[in-house]
Amino acid sequence: MALIVHKYGGTSMGSTERIRNVAKRVAKWARAGHQMVVVPSAMSGETNRLLALAKEVAPAKADDAYHRELDQLAATGEQASSALLAIALQAEGLAAVSYSGWQVAIKTNSAFTKARIESIDDARVRADLAAGKVVIITGFQGVDDAGNVTTLGRGGSDTSAVAVAAAMKAQECLIYTDVDGVYTTDPRVVPEARRLKTVSFEEMLEMASMGSKVLQIRSVEFAGKYKVPLRVLSSFTPWDIDIHEEAKSGTLISFEEDENMEQAVVSGIAFNRDEAKISLLGVPDTPGIAYQILGAVAQANIEVDMIIQNVSHEGKTDFSFTVHRNDFARATDLLKSDIAPKLGARQVIGDAKICKVSIVGIGMRSHVGVASKMFRALSEEGINIQMISTSEIKTSVVIDEKYMELAVRALHKAFDLDQQPA
Ligand code: ASP
Ligand code: MG
Repeated sequence: MALIVHKYGGTSMGSTERIRNVAKRVAKWARAGHQMVVVPSAMSGETNRLLALAKEVAPAKADDAYHRELDQLAATGEQASSALLAIALQAEGLAAVSYSGWQVAIKTNSAFTKARIESIDDARVRADLAAGKVVIITGFQGVDDAGNVTTLGRGGSDTSAVAVAAAMKAQECLIYTDVDGVYTTDPRVVPEARRLKTVSFEEMLEMASMGSKVLQIRSVEFAGKYKVPLRVLSSFTPWDIDIHEEAKSGTLISFEEDENMEQAVVSGIAFNRDEAKISLLGVPDTPGIAYQILGAVAQANIEVDMIIQNVSHEGKTDFSFTVHRNDFARATDLLKSDIAPKLGARQVIGDAKICKVSIVGIGMRSHVGVASKMFRALSEEGINIQMISTSEIKTSVVIDEKYMELAVRALHKAFDLDQQPA
């Protein structure tokens, strides 16, 4: 008997039939003696539908008053799915109650459309659990100090579930989704990709930040901070499969590097096409140039990922960095109109047709030659590397976007990721 949090994504909640199915699964867990808290997403497509209605009524605006209403609007999606799930559970013969974020309350800051959870009051939920009820808490939303409804950013129900699990000190947080776990890479790119039984929290963080969209990145950060054991598993198995089998399925995101961890040096290949590269050529190499370039970029609220400064030649150097593609035009304009003239740089060039491919693995800490193996695999495919960056547990390269799939496949093979580790 344990306190367990289940989270169901939009697809799992996608129709009344699927909601009834979720209720049957949750009922199975409750009848096995667990105290159950369930955090659902809105029915699939619902959040998009609501936000599109807002745009139909009036063009989007950038102010708080408008964003407040977007949150008030979008939060209804989860309120509906949560109530439907409670009704379905009651029909299964269980006592069940659903709460919106403000009813719990899940307190957030006031950053509408991207609020952060600050605290969760668990009193009401604990009382219901003690009274034998299944408690359903809307994902994606909270309430600020002034009583405004807030939302946590797209995909935010993952974070709600992990935050609730942390606050309740749940034994495990199970994220039921439309994939059956975390893979060595995207199976749509590499059909031989293998599901990982376990992945370390740090690896998951790297993979989530680099385009592996299984979990909202903030939920992984949260799980790390509060040490919430997290499991990603499929909601499309038959609801009546053996509960012990279900409890071990999917991928466990674990904290200890215990003996059960798969001992691969590289655990996964991540990639993303969301970046663009910008270079300033012929910048005078004087103290403070990196600061002058990146300081101005940061001032404009543009996030920078990879950065490279070349060795200088006759007092001049080249400076390159990557930004999100959405910020590419703005960043290039800023450099051309403002920074390059100020610094006396020769030219600003940019390239949005790039991608970033990374190898990730905690085993890289204790093994040498991992990066060189990566570079060899890419060179054997004739793929030119434009930028490189490394951290303790990953190596990333920027390459031409047209070679992305080739690179991912070559690396997956080079690191034997299609093979079950010994
Ligand atoms: N319904 C929200 C969204 O579509 C939150 C979530 O599903 O996690 O982004
Ligand atoms: Mg999601």
